[in-house]
Amino acid sequence: MMSYTRRMMMNWTGFCHRCGQRSPVHTMSHFSTELICPACGDLERGHPEYGKAVTAELDALHVGDFTFQGIGWPRPTATQEGDNEPFTF
Ligand SMILES: [Zn+2]
Repeated sequence: MMSYTRRMMMNWTGFCHRCGQRSPVHTMSHFSTELICPACGDLERGHPEYGKAVTAELDALHVGDFTFQGIGWPRPTATQEGDNEPFTF
């Protein structure tokens, strides 16, 4: 519970912490402590590491690690060669 309380204490300023787009709504990242817009949330759910991120978060909570920061957001296409602009929002 503390983890979610901590996250909720982060102020949503109306802009996605990840892509910077203005959004009337937000969700919490499972990869990090960022508050992200629905579009970024969809990207997370489609990420091959999504299940791993969710599992890691739950495992941390189970062992009482309420300061778990997530596994970090690995840009899905960052490993593709010659692609320096992997995202278009
Ligand atoms: Zn976003």
